[in-house]
Amino acid sequence: MADYYTGRTKDGAKYRLMFVSGVNWDKCVGCGICIKVCANKILKFVNTEKGTKTTVVNRGDCLGEGHCIKLCPNNAINYEFLEKNKA
Ligand code: SF4
Repeated sequence: MADYYTGRTKDGAKYRLMFVSGVNWDKCVGCGICIKVCANKILKFVNTEKGTKTTVVNRGDCLGEGHCIKLCPNNAINYEFLEKNKA
């Protein structure tokens, strides 16, 4: 059975960390919520042909907390669960 990187909620419940892998620009509306909540500044605005969007920089610094993923109103942020033996 795979062993994934995990975190704990304030209540002590265990959950799998969600590591950001990219942003779907067809869904992103450039609201910037994800940028504001990221503690490690791995997301930033970028100008595209489709308008202002968010892109991932410093992907390796993602802590896997998943705040940006949970708060994005359009489910635009792609993520993955990392197995410990594949990281
Ligand atoms: S929160 Fe979602 S919609 Fe808003 S900028 Fe970030 S990825 Fe785009």
